[in-house]
Amino acid sequence: MKYEFLIVGQGITGSVLATQLEKLTKTFKIVDDFNKNTSSRVAAGIMHPMSLKRVNLSWNGKDFYDFSDDFYKKFDSLNKTKFYKSCSMIRVFNSYQEQNNWIGRCSDIKLKGIIDLNHQKIDPINDAFGSGEVLKSNHLNVNFFLKYLKNKYETRNILKKEKFNPLKIKLENNMFYYGDDSFENIIMCDGSSSLKNPIFDYLPMIPNKGEIMNIFSDVLPKKIINCGVFCLPIKNKIFTVGSTYSNEDSKRHITNNAKNYLLKKLSKIINIDDISIVDQSFGFRPTTPDRKPFIGEHPLIKNIYTLNGMGSKALLMAPLLAKELLDHIFNSKSISPLVDIKRYSDKIKSDNKAFAKSIMGQ
Ligand SMILES: Cc1cc2nc3c(=O)[nH]c(=O)nc-3n(C[C@H](O)[C@H](O)[C@H](O)COP(=O)(O)OP(=O)(O)OC[C@H]3O[C@@H](n4cnc5c(N)ncnc54)[C@H](O)[C@@H]3O)c2cc1C
Repeated sequence: MKYEFLIVGQGITGSVLATQLEKLTKTFKIVDDFNKNTSSRVAAGIMHPMSLKRVNLSWNGKDFYDFSDDFYKKFDSLNKTKFYKSCSMIRVFNSYQEQNNWIGRCSDIKLKGIIDLNHQKIDPINDAFGSGEVLKSNHLNVNFFLKYLKNKYETRNILKKEKFNPLKIKLENNMFYYGDDSFENIIMCDGSSSLKNPIFDYLPMIPNKGEIMNIFSDVLPKKIINCGVFCLPIKNKIFTVGSTYSNEDSKRHITNNAKNYLLKKLSKIINIDDISIVDQSFGFRPTTPDRKPFIGEHPLIKNIYTLNGMGSKALLMAPLLAKELLDHIFNSKSISPLVDIKRYSDKIKSDNKAFAKSIMGQ
C-alpha cells in the first residue's frame, strides 16, 4: 500500500500526531513495538501550564495549555470518549518561605486564573504551612487514550506491532519503501529509543528515568495533591504517586531507592503506615540538554522528520508542536529555532552520513 506518512511510535506524541493527520485526511500507517516501559505507558496524565518549582508559567506554558486543552476536549467530543477532565491541583507548602513566595506570585497578572491560595483545610493532610491551588490543571487517562487509538487504527489496519528497523528502508523516486508499503514521509516519534537508531541518534537526547507507584489509601483525599511528588486519585482508594527523575540510572527495572524517595515525600503529609503499595513501574522520558523538544527535518534525508524530546510534558506540548511540524510540512511555515533540530546540525556523525548514503543507494 502507498501512504503519505509512516509514523514510528504510538506513544503520546505519535498518537497526537496521528489524530492531526487523520483530521487533515492524510493517509498514514503507524508501527510500534509496544514496549511496556516507555514513558507514555507509565505517564500519570497530569497537564498544567506551570513550573511549580519556580511558581511561574513553564516555557510557552499558556499557549501550549490553551491549545492542548482545546485539543483533548475536541478529541473526547469527536470520539464520544471521556478521557480528559479538569482536576485542580493542591500544592502543599513545605515552609513559610514557600507560602510567602506563592502568595506573591498570585498577584502576578500572568498567573491570574491559573494559581490561587487554597483557604480550605484538606483533612487529614498535614499542611502546617498552608497550600496553594493550580486552577488550570487537568487529567488525561493516558492508558485509555493510547489503547483507544491503538484499537481504532488496528481495526483499520494502519497500526502494526513491529520493531522498526531503519536499515530496511529503501529510498527510490522520492518514496520510502519499507516492508510491503511505500511512504512519502517518515516521522520518528520514538521517544528515548531514538538513541538506538542511526537516523537521529546524533541528537543529544537524555533518557531520564522516572518511577511511579500505585498505592491503596483510606485517608488520602480525592484531589490531586502535590507535596514535591504528586498523588493522583485514579479509582476507589487507589492513588498514583510519582515521580522520580534520574539521568544517571539506566537500569531497566524498578528500584527500592525510588520507592523510598516517594514514600519519604509522602510521609510529610500523611502517615505512611496507613497506605499499602499496589505496584511500581518505570519509564524513560525523552529529555534534552536545553529542555526544548527536537522538531524538524533530517539534515541529510529529505522528508524524514522527528517530533521528539517532550521531556516530562508531552501532554502539554505535543499537540501544538505536532501542528507546528505539520504546518511546516504542508504550508512551508518555519519551525521555531528554539525547537528546530537545526540547532544540533553540527553534531551529525560519520555514521549518520553513512546511513543517509546507504538508504539513498549511494
Ligand atoms: C513516571 C513518569 C510519569 C510521567 N507523568 C507525566 C504526566 O503526568 N504528564 C505528562 O505530560 N508527561 C508525563 N511524563 C512524561 C511523558 O510520559 C513523556 O513526555 C511522553 O511519554 C513522551 O512521549 P513520546 O510519545 O514522545 O515517547 P515514548 O512514550 O517513549 O513513546 C515512543 C514510542 O515509540 C515506540 N518505539 C520506539 N522505538 C521504536 C522502534 N524502533 N520500533 C517500533 N516502535 C518504537 C515505543 O514503543 C513507544 O511506544 C511522565 C513520564 C514518566 C517516566
